[in-house]
Amino acid sequence: MFNLINPKQKYPHSRKETYNWKSPYANKVHNSILDFVGNTPLIKLNRIPKDHGLSCEIYAKCEFMNPSGSSKDRIALAMLKDAEHGGYINHDSQFVEATSGNTGTSVALNATLIEKKCYIVTGEKNSSEKVNTMRLLGADVIVTKKSPTLLAREIKDAYPDTVVMLDQFENSVNPKIHYDTTGMEIIDALGKVDVLVAGVGTGGTLSGAGHRIKEKYPKCIMVVAEPDGSTMFNVDSKSHSFLVEGTGGSSIPIVMDKSLVNEYQVVTDEESFLMAREIIQKEGLFCGGSSGAIMAAAIKTAHKNKLGPGHHIVVVLPDGMRNYMTKFVTDQWMESHLFMDPPEHTMRWWNKP
Ligand code: PMP
Repeated sequence: MFNLINPKQKYPHSRKETYNWKSPYANKVHNSILDFVGNTPLIKLNRIPKDHGLSCEIYAKCEFMNPSGSSKDRIALAMLKDAEHGGYINHDSQFVEATSGNTGTSVALNATLIEKKCYIVTGEKNSSEKVNTMRLLGADVIVTKKSPTLLAREIKDAYPDTVVMLDQFENSVNPKIHYDTTGMEIIDALGKVDVLVAGVGTGGTLSGAGHRIKEKYPKCIMVVAEPDGSTMFNVDSKSHSFLVEGTGGSSIPIVMDKSLVNEYQVVTDEESFLMAREIIQKEGLFCGGSSGAIMAAAIKTAHKNKLGPGHHIVVVLPDGMRNYMTKFVTDQWMESHLFMDPPEHTMRWWNKP
C-alpha cells in the first residue's frame, strides 16, 4: 500500500505553487468564443522524429485547438465576415455548405451565434461525431451518396434570395485567410521554414500558408500528403476509396494553387491512422486521421531529402481526435480494419489448435 501523503507535510501543501504555468487567457474576459479562432500553438515534437531516425526538427501547427476543433474556424469566420461586408447577408439569410464535416461544424457554430439557420451537406464516409456535432448546433445535415457540392449548389439555386453558400471550394477568402494568419503565425513563431506539409481538401491551407511562407523562404519545400486512392496529385494511379476524412479526391480544387507544390507523398489509411495514434500517444497532441497522414508524409520527405540538424519541418494538424472517437481512436475499429492485431490473449485464443 502506498501512502502518497507525507504525514509530516501540512495539507494543503506548504509549497506556494504546484506548477507555474502562464495562461494567455489570464486577467481577461472575452465576449465570444470566436475570439479564440487562430493563433494556434506551434509545438516542437520531442519523441517522434527521434523514434523515426530523424535529426531534423518537426513542429506541429495545432489547428485542432481552434474553438470548433479544426482549421476551418479560420475560413468559416473569414468567409462569413466577407459575405457580411459584401452585403450578402440579411436577417432572412440561411446558409448552405458542402463539407467533410469540419467546415460544416464551424459554419454551424457561427450560424448559431448569430441565430441563423444552416443546411450542411456531407458525404456518407464522414464520421457520425462530426454529423452529430453539427446537428447539436442546430444544422440540418443532409448525408448524401451524391456530390455534396452539387447538392449544396442545387439547394442554393432553389432559394437564391435567402440561401447563402460560402463555398469553401471556390471562395478566394479561404486561401487568403491562411495567407494572412496561418502562414504568418508560423513564420512569426519559427522564422526559417524548410518544409511545409499539409493535406489538401480544398487546398486553402496549403495555398494560403504556403504562399506566405514561400514569399519569405523561396526554397521551402511544399509537400502534399496524398491519401492512397486519391488522384488529385497522384494522377497516374488507380483511384479507389479510402477512409481518411477531409483530404484527397479526384481533381485539384479551384482554390488550390498547384504550382506551389514541390512534391506529394502517398500515404495509406493504415500508415495514417497508426501515425495519428502515435502522435497522440507520444506527443500528447489530440489530432485526427489526416494529421497522421500529414506526419507520415513529413517523415517520408525528411528521409527522401536527407534533412539533418537545423532543418525545420512544419506539419499542419487540421483537426482533432474527438471527431473520430468511434473510429481510429478505438482499438476494435483498428483491429476490424486489420490496421492492428488484437491483444495478445485474444491472439492466443484464436491460434489455439
Ligand atoms: N484535414 C481535414 C480533417 C479536413 O477536414 C480538411 C478540410 N476538408 C483538410 C485536412 C484540408 O484542408 P484544406 O481544405 O485547407 O485543404
